[in-house]
Amino acid sequence: MECHFDPSLAKRYHSRSQCIRILTESWVQAHMYCPRCGHAELNHCPNNQAVADFYCPQCGNEYELKSKSGLPGHKIADGAYEAFIQRITSDRNPDFFILSYDPDALCVTHFWIVPKHFFVPRIVEKRKPLGTNAKRAGWVGCNILFDEIPVQGRITVIQNGMEVSRDTVLHQVRAADRLYTEGLQARGWLMDVLQCINQIQADIFTLDQVYAFEPVLAERHRSNQHIRPKIRQQLQLLRDRGFLSFLGSGVYKKAIPGGGG
Ligand SMILES: [Zn+2]
Repeated sequence: MECHFDPSLAKRYHSRSQCIRILTESWVQAHMYCPRCGHAELNHCPNNQAVADFYCPQCGNEYELKSKSGLPGHKIADGAYEAFIQRITSDRNPDFFILSYDPDALCVTHFWIVPKHFFVPRIVEKRKPLGTNAKRAGWVGCNILFDEIPVQGRITVIQNGMEVSRDTVLHQVRAADRLYTEGLQARGWLMDVLQCINQIQADIFTLDQVYAFEPVLAERHRSNQHIRPKIRQQLQLLRDRGFLSFLGSGVYKKAIPGGGG
């Protein structure tokens, strides 16, 4: 996969942000395939229907592109907070492409796909309203907390300029789909418990190790008085979906759905 942008496309644009938008969008259109069905190309959505940036002409899935200079690190700045929350909580939320680029070499260094159901409100941080002196005083933007997305939902397409095989990407997208849950609250719980388990280094762990996250989870779900039963319920869900196995006596083992690669 060619990682370099085509600088000739940006010649007639003056603003830097506009140039980057043209370069990154053209790159996706020229080189990216549909990571859901494997179709070789994606189409740009008409600009006036800006629900998403791209769609697959074969399966119809939609994608929104977020680009960042350098590594995404902890946060990716995004647009208006309310609009973003509304979009991710609607029935028609897109999958996200996260592209990081080298602004000097003008090439893609990293590229991820994050399936739509990994976007829960908790990973969207509300920024402070713009001050009274700002052009858009009172406007509230948001940040995507990239490293709060469970690793199962950050599927690598390009890493350090190296492409991951298309089959691996498609396989991982299908595996991530097993974590799909209807309803935003249920989705939040599943992602939260998964993220706790991801923080446990060992592949084999105990229920007590997950219970150690009880204070964190209680803080996030203040209306819930039954954190431990909720944890057990999510562990069962993760087992049913092939992400864990129960070894008995409160011992669990992490599993890779579909068995390896
Ligand atoms: Zn498709």
